[in-house]
Amino acid sequence: MSPPDQVSGRDAALAYRPGKERLLPVRSRWLAAAIFVLLVVVLGATLWLVHNYEQSEKQEALQQASLVAAATIRARLGETELALRGLASDLRSGDDARFTAVATELLANNPALLRVELRFGSDLLAAVDAPQPRPRLGPARRAGLAFDTQIALAASRGADRFAYSRPYAVEIPGELPFAVTELAVPVERERRGTLLAIYSLARMLEYFAPTAFLAANEVTLGEVDGTTLARPVSGMPGAGVYRTTVPLELAGGRSIWLRADSRTKEPKLIPNVLAGMLVAAIVGMGIIGGLLGRDMRLRARAERALREQYAFRTAMEDSLVTGLRARDGDGVITYVNPAFCKMTGYRAEELVGRGPPLPYWSSETADVPGQGQSRIREQGDQQQGFETVFRRRDGEQFPVLIFDSPLIDANGEQAGWMDSIFDISEQKRIEELSRRQQEKLHQNARMALLGEVSSSLSHELNQPLAAISGYATACRNLLANGKQTDLDVALSRIYSQSERAGQVIRSVNDFVRSRKLDRAAIDLSDLMRALEPLIELQARELGVRLAWRADPGAVVMADRTMLEQVILNLTRNAIESMESTPPESRLLEIEISLQDAGDGPMVEIAVLDRGTGVSVEASKHLFSAFFSTKEQGLGIGLSLCRSVVEQHGGQLRYREREDGGARFSATIAAIGSETS
Ligand code: ADP
Repeated sequence: MSPPDQVSGRDAALAYRPGKERLLPVRSRWLAAAIFVLLVVVLGATLWLVHNYEQSEKQEALQQASLVAAATIRARLGETELALRGLASDLRSGDDARFTAVATELLANNPALLRVELRFGSDLLAAVDAPQPRPRLGPARRAGLAFDTQIALAASRGADRFAYSRPYAVEIPGELPFAVTELAVPVERERRGTLLAIYSLARMLEYFAPTAFLAANEVTLGEVDGTTLARPVSGMPGAGVYRTTVPLELAGGRSIWLRADSRTKEPKLIPNVLAGMLVAAIVGMGIIGGLLGRDMRLRARAERALREQYAFRTAMEDSLVTGLRARDGDGVITYVNPAFCKMTGYRAEELVGRGPPLPYWSSETADVPGQGQSRIREQGDQQQGFETVFRRRDGEQFPVLIFDSPLIDANGEQAGWMDSIFDISEQKRIEELSRRQQEKLHQNARMALLGEVSSSLSHELNQPLAAISGYATACRNLLANGKQTDLDVALSRIYSQSERAGQVIRSVNDFVRSRKLDRAAIDLSDLMRALEPLIELQARELGVRLAWRADPGAVVMADRTMLEQVILNLTRNAIESMESTPPESRLLEIEISLQDAGDGPMVEIAVLDRGTGVSVEASKHLFSAFFSTKEQGLGIGLSLCRSVVEQHGGQLRYREREDGGARFSATIAAIGSETS
């Protein structure tokens, strides 16, 4: 078997040899998977960082907004401080009207203020309450100053500067407790005089902090320890994600804490375009990876199918006994199969890639490139092929039958020629053998004919010669009386010569008669099988069909050649008699049967036709030598047959067929009777 890599690369389609390699080695596949995982991790981390960055951005923004809010509140507090210090600087005792006017204006302008008082020591000199709906603190103040207020008062008087009290809760009947802080401003001209402004911390937030800030966050004021002092009335709860606390400096080192809890929720995982794009990239990569994987699987599958197909094709080519050879347009061999190599004795690698003249061409009939191709253009030749002679490596020439067909490539164009080559040497040998046999048969027939002719001749000549001899004797007797001695001599010579001629003819006759039969056991089925092609050959000329059957065990002791001669003679006559029979009825039948008519088993060879039959007149001379109704006939066939059959101890008979045609039959003792 030839290794697959022996085909040159000239013809891509033929040279294709699928390898064992996979699309990606296992290691590379792991590497590809690792790279993919790494990319996913990097993209995931980027997403997380973006998420984090956004979170800290929001936190920062809240911090900034809280600082701004604290500063705004501080500024508003500053304004009131300024106004109160202005009043305190030029307020005289007893100038209640001025106090009331300034306080009323102050309360009107500052919605966080609840009440402004003028005190001397801790005694109340004058007080103005804020207009409704701000809570009125008057009744609560009657119970006395809160402890924290007193400290603030003392602090402001002691340091001669304004001071805020620690925030404390005020309880007014019918209302929820709320936190306040008091601003104490010392009156400069009165040693013990103080202005007190009471702030509601809730209102301070509500009216001083920027509205947008309040809307976006849950804002509270509280102590450093986390206690909540106040929250705006309309405050909405925060989300609890972004929180911040900034100090709100009151005065004199007192601070309260502004706390903001943003209502903004945790940023979403895909918060912006960038993140969206990253996610899209990951998803896209996943899809591409999946498609690539699928593509790889499909390719691997296709390649496997191709490999199987290739193995199948190789097995098929290797098992062929027909030689296959492919040539390109220039006559260069691109492929040969093992059968072709075996036929020519050359190895594939010695032939593939070679152009004319090729090593297997015989000297006389070179396989000229184009010879096949030019012939192929006639459609009929493509099917019939053409014969030529090749030479084996050892120099032996052998006949081949070549069928060419165009080799069409994947683009539908002719790339060359594909030839099937049959070694027909065996077929030729059989043909030659059969021809020789036929010749021998004819020769035998001629010999038999010669014998028959000579026997007939001797028969025909014997009588006149005998008469001559008789007359000569008579003449001699007559002349004996006349004593004519010269005549006697002449007549004696006639006599001796005719005797001599008779002797010659007798000896010829004896020779023919004594021809020895070369007998052997012959199975008539075997004989018929051997004769069948020859009879077919006879029958083909007139389009006669042949049907034969032979009983098993029909074996005779006979001279094979003569028996063949008898059968062939009978079949030829039968075929010739059907010349004017309608073609569809031209049937030649041969029936060989084993019979027993009392005197031992006999074999009957019957030849039946659908021809003209034999006329009554003709039937009388049928077996006579030289009787023929045919223009070219010799009329010795049947007589010969009869003598052969009789020599075998048998009989040749003719019978008319009821439904038209003739039946000739030869009966010969079967081998059973012969041996017994
Ligand atoms: P030939 O064939 O040369 O004429 P044959 O001795 O074989 O000589 O045949 C003698 C004659 O017998 C033939 O001319 C033919 O008239 C007749 N004959 C022989 N066989 C048949 C047959 N099967 N059917 C009709 N006539 C036949």
